[in-house]
Amino acid sequence: MASGGGIYRNGTHRNSLKGTTTTATASVNSNPSKPAVKNKSSSLVGASSALRKSSPGSLGGGAAKDDAGVPGRVRVAVRLRPRNAEESVADADFADCVELQPELKRLKLRKNNWDTDTYEFDEVLTEFASQKRVYEVVAKPVVEGVLDGYNGTIMAYGQTGTGKTYTLGRLGEEDTANRGIMVRAMEDILAEVTPERDSVSVSYLQLYMESLQDLLDPTNDNISIIEDHKSGDVSLPGATLVEIRDQQSCLELLRLGEAHRHAANTKLNTESSRSHALLMVHVKRSVKGREPAHPSENGNNMNMAKSLRPPLVRKGKLVVVDLAGSERIDKSGNEGHTREEAKSINLSLSALGKCINALAENSAHVPVRDSKLTRLLRDSFGGTARTSLVITIGPSPRHRGETASTIMFGQRAMKVENMLKLKEEFDYKSLAQRLDIQLDNLIMDHERKEKAFEVEIGRITTDAQNRISEAERNYADAMEKERLKYQKDYMESIKKFEEKWMMNQQNQGSVRKEQMIHTAEEVAELNILLSKETSLRKEAEEEVNNLKSQLAQMKMSEASANSEILKLRKMLEGEISQKEKLEGEISMLQSQLLHLSFEADETRRRLDRGEPGKVTGGLDSLIPQVKLKLKDSGNGEKASVAKLFEQVGLQKILSLLEAEDADVRIHAVKVVANLAAEETNQQKIVEAGGLKSLLMLLGNSEDETIHRVAAGAIANLAMNEMNQELIIAQGGISLLSMTATNAKDPQTLRMVAGAIANLCGNDKLQTKLRGEGGVKAFLGIVKCGHPDVLAQVARGIANFAKCESRASSQGSKTGRSLLIEDGALPWIVQNANSDAPPIRRHIELALCHLAQNEMNAKDMIKEGALWELVRISQDCPREDIRTLAHRTLTSSPTFIAELRQLQIDY
Ligand code: ADP
Ligand code: MG
Repeated sequence: MASGGGIYRNGTHRNSLKGTTTTATASVNSNPSKPAVKNKSSSLVGASSALRKSSPGSLGGGAAKDDAGVPGRVRVAVRLRPRNAEESVADADFADCVELQPELKRLKLRKNNWDTDTYEFDEVLTEFASQKRVYEVVAKPVVEGVLDGYNGTIMAYGQTGTGKTYTLGRLGEEDTANRGIMVRAMEDILAEVTPERDSVSVSYLQLYMESLQDLLDPTNDNISIIEDHKSGDVSLPGATLVEIRDQQSCLELLRLGEAHRHAANTKLNTESSRSHALLMVHVKRSVKGREPAHPSENGNNMNMAKSLRPPLVRKGKLVVVDLAGSERIDKSGNEGHTREEAKSINLSLSALGKCINALAENSAHVPVRDSKLTRLLRDSFGGTARTSLVITIGPSPRHRGETASTIMFGQRAMKVENMLKLKEEFDYKSLAQRLDIQLDNLIMDHERKEKAFEVEIGRITTDAQNRISEAERNYADAMEKERLKYQKDYMESIKKFEEKWMMNQQNQGSVRKEQMIHTAEEVAELNILLSKETSLRKEAEEEVNNLKSQLAQMKMSEASANSEILKLRKMLEGEISQKEKLEGEISMLQSQLLHLSFEADETRRRLDRGEPGKVTGGLDSLIPQVKLKLKDSGNGEKASVAKLFEQVGLQKILSLLEAEDADVRIHAVKVVANLAAEETNQQKIVEAGGLKSLLMLLGNSEDETIHRVAAGAIANLAMNEMNQELIIAQGGISLLSMTATNAKDPQTLRMVAGAIANLCGNDKLQTKLRGEGGVKAFLGIVKCGHPDVLAQVARGIANFAKCESRASSQGSKTGRSLLIEDGALPWIVQNANSDAPPIRRHIELALCHLAQNEMNAKDMIKEGALWELVRISQDCPREDIRTLAHRTLTSSPTFIAELRQLQIDY
């Protein structure tokens, strides 16, 4: 480390030239810390402050493979403990061994009476720094990242007695101003989360002599570590995980852990300074605005599709580590340890030092597996977490040696670069629960309606029967009445007639003629009576007919009631089939969950057995895992189920790309893009015609989201050499150029540029790519000016130039670079000194490659590229590029001649 200045090289960006595409967009950041370095080439401000979040439609679901992230260097603060009573007496006549310059973020370490070494840190915290200030500077940005769905680590390193536990673990019960980072972090987290939707859970562990002990359940002292090699996540299935709802329960938990740590150390006859304490906080938050609307009662198709969309969750994990004291353990056995014990006690801490050295020096092998601590912290150094380290030192000149080694540890850690990644995934479990509830509601509703129908049918039937029997009764009564009346009238008439006839017999002869007349009158009267009787009878008959027609009407209404019942029955059948469809969906999801948990169990078992294996990351990765299972198990039945699922799934998704509903199309293209991000799915997608469909979407669709996501998927597929040929053969370049011309969103341009950039790396396709207008498309895209887009173009140009220089060195290419032919050189020269490190690095490489072909030299001199090459060979922070530029310059006769002519001594 340089003394007297702060010039050093940062941890280098570890992305390869063959980059990938991401869907990250909007930039939000809460990182307040300033970079430690003034060196122009190390633009840490840009890198660490541009923490990007995935857009709501992000394809970067939890399990989706997404190589890119956001660079985030490990931040290191140094904290000086005030002199204690003993030091005040013993060191009274001596000056402190360090001098702090917080405003310059510098620390001076006294070498002797005349000389000091100067070091720069991200933060320099004096002996007067309050706990609140330390929290805000060291921990708060990390805690905010965790709440946003990133992993975070806060760690204290230093000699025993320098204040690690004071900084991290103080509960502040005697004085609230003394609260340490653990308590304050939990307060901030609990204040931010919404208890109904989010969850916070905590584990607390101790690591001593390579055994991991649960501080919340001390009997559990052999916890195993499970690593997911794909996502880099580490889990401890054996550790107690307590869900935290309020600060009070959190404090009780920390108190309990502290007591158990004390008791365990007494039992082992060791000091807490020899063990590492780890607090792990898991924060799971659902992402607002993605919650589907409440399904309506009868659930039409739109609502159904919405309710099948799983909610999105972000899972951040905060790890707070109070490390064991960094001082060397006396191996002579003075502390009562054997030599072997001393080695074992030191193992984790020295392994951590070795890993940080390897990462700081960018060496190819990082010995992560050497200790439990480094396995637990694999995401914190060189992983995806945002990491903040506080190194604690004391003022006493007697411990100058330990203080110096602590400072060197901090300096090396500052060079470690992580790639921050959002931990976002679909919550299929809660979707299944919600669908279960929905199904139960439908079943209840259905049962209620069925019962109501039955009651209604019963009521209508009794009503109809009552009316029929009343009509029948009325009819019978009326008939009987008529019959009696008629009979009575008839009898009376007969009687009258007989009387008359008798009287006639008696008076016969006397007044014969008069009687004859009288009799005639009588007959007439009788006739009238008879006709009256007849009309009465007719009336009675009419009444009867009337009643009969009433009866017929009633029968008709009964028939219509029956047809109503039939209709209701049909509706009921409809409901039942709806219910069966839903049950089918549920059982599909449940079977997916089952597969997943089977996989997880299997992998866990394999890992427990010490065999290498994959751990499932979510339903998104189900297909590759099913494939894995097909290979692994010879079980015919299971394999055929898995195969069926895989084929039907992909085919169905691809067919949805042509769906009429725009929403469905967008959803489908996102799913395809998600699958395309997995290398193992890419060939399947291409074979099933997915590449063709995606290219067609670029041509046919007018929706920019579809363009953006489809281009992203094509970019991922374009990482494979065979697909690159297919894309070009299917007119991909002109479709991508057209998409770029119509794009309004820079992210769409970034995807298009990323796809072309990947094609640029194929030696065989150079001429074709350029012939189809690939290079010209780049020159159109750069007009947008967005740095992310420019970075992709720069990457493509570097890829292209690299292939060309390879071809010309093998003699398979002659003449000028096609890039120069197409007029790209002015843009390249303009951006060679760009402020954005990725752009500059790619352009610098491109220039070195172009310069290797002597045929390009004249044009390069004309456009001013020679000066950029000279600058790169002297100033470029990357040594390999610097050397390449220098070598290229000194081996080109044209460049040498030009420099000589200008009398520049190179
Ligand atoms: P470590 O965990 O590194 O062994 P401790 O946190 O136990 O060290 O601190 C050792 C002693 O120093 C404790 O008595 C603690 O209260 C005191 N101490 C540490 N840092 C400070 C500080 N910044 N201000 C006041 N006292 C401190
Ligand atoms: Mg301690």
